[in-house]
Amino acid sequence: MIAELHEVSKDYGEVQALRGVTLGIGAGELLGIVGPSGSGKSTMLNMIGTLDRPSGGTVRIAGHDVSQLNDRALSALRAQTIGFVFQQFHLAAGVPALDNVADGLLYSGPALRERRRRAADALERVGLGHRLGHRPHQLSGGEKQRVAIARAVVGGPSLLLADEPTGNLDSRSGAGVMDLLRELNDAGTTVVIITHDRDIAASLPRQVEMLDGKVIA
Ligand code: ADP
Repeated sequence: MIAELHEVSKDYGEVQALRGVTLGIGAGELLGIVGPSGSGKSTMLNMIGTLDRPSGGTVRIAGHDVSQLNDRALSALRAQTIGFVFQQFHLAAGVPALDNVADGLLYSGPALRERRRRAADALERVGLGHRLGHRPHQLSGGEKQRVAIARAVVGGPSLLLADEPTGNLDSRSGAGVMDLLRELNDAGTTVVIITHDRDIAASLPRQVEMLDGKVIA
């Protein structure tokens, strides 16, 4: 298991965003998290991604109980194990694709030259070897998301978490991004995708359906 949630709850003041979620994600899975707005999908992704700590229950990532790790150890675990992709891309404006991706390695700390070498490899993998010097405003939406995916995987994470990765893309670019996520999964990365899109959800081998902070199917 790469991620194990046991009876996880998360409260935001009066709001119970998660209410006793138990879920295991095996290494190598390709999994969708679906459900209406407000059902707790993003909160769940924050738990799996160790971006936030649960109010109750346990979260284990790559065998580590998150509650046993201090913030520094947790950041290190996250940097080594998990890559993130968001609907809004979150690329640095005015910065070439190569350096947007190279910055994904800042935490693990190889020298700039090595970071750029690995970034070029990652951009090659996502089909953007010819766009290394392009800045975000010179790229299409689909290309921006590919750069964001390259940045997420440049450090070789075993787990990739994607929050509505096709939410800002037309259907053709979205399909391309989904193909890329499937390729990464075929190469061994565990991939978890939050999606509203019924067709995308239906195309995934496993779907976790959420409602009112609980897993219902
Ligand atoms: P989804 O991703 O399915 O739309 P969320 O996980 O974002 O659902 O939200 C679940 C519930 O928790 C919602 O009622 C939302 O308003 C609430 N919530 C999420 N994050 C916060 C926060 N940081 N502060 C307060 N309430 C939050």
